[in-house]
Amino acid sequence: MKNPGGDRMFVFRKNDFLAPGDAGAESLVHGIDGELFRAAFPGLVPYRSPRLSGGGVVEAALLDDGADIPDGWKALPVRAVLSAFVGSGGGIQGNNDILRAYHLVQWREHSRYCGRCGAENTDHPEELARLCPVCGGLEFPRIAPAVITVVTSGDRILLAHNVRFINRVYSLIAGFVEAGETPEDTVAREIREEVGLEVSGIRYISSQPWPFPNSLMLGFTACCAGGSIQVDGKEIEDARWFSRDELPELSQYGSISRYLIDRWIQGEL
Ligand SMILES: [Zn+2]
Repeated sequence: MKNPGGDRMFVFRKNDFLAPGDAGAESLVHGIDGELFRAAFPGLVPYRSPRLSGGGVVEAALLDDGADIPDGWKALPVRAVLSAFVGSGGGIQGNNDILRAYHLVQWREHSRYCGRCGAENTDHPEELARLCPVCGGLEFPRIAPAVITVVTSGDRILLAHNVRFINRVYSLIAGFVEAGETPEDTVAREIREEVGLEVSGIRYISSQPWPFPNSLMLGFTACCAGGSIQVDGKEIEDARWFSRDELPELSQYGSISRYLIDRWIQGEL
């Protein structure tokens, strides 16, 4: 899918992306036209930052939770937008405008005050940073690396049901990188802690920025090297080995989790 050039604008309200009612998948992930934005939200001052690709600027704004949506506009959950983009033929890599915009508006909201002296932060005039006008402290966007792993045993895949999942969806084992760890350390630790298995052959596959709120997901594969499944009962409620012809309900398209599972189904991992 083509990546339009120029300045791209995004307005969010909580976990929703706001767009004109007739907006298609491309404008949903690459932002909307500036004229439409300014006409619909007069007085709203977006945060400007360089686009990662395609040139121009990403402008992003976060409305108050209870703000009204203008007539003719729609509110779509950001995750549903990602899912629709992948479903319309986009990959998990072609949507970095919306991921960047959503990450930045949340970061700006969560960095209103200096963590060192408590004064109110301002936007740095040149850098992508928040600046404390009292002590000079800088705060950059926080990015929390996390790992997610396809664990295999022969021709079967390990899928787990997390206690936080609202339906019967099964997915991959995932967790945040801790201070002092390499991502490979995290893969081995999370699998040991959550399902009681040892793994070998840990191999990096792909990644995805995941701004819910500030993760960078690093996707791996690994082979089961010992142990039997024992779920921790805190994060993981159930975990099992599944073959390709008896898969459970899987997470929706758009996440690296589903992307990695689909690649395994297709025999690519
Ligand atoms: Zn300060």
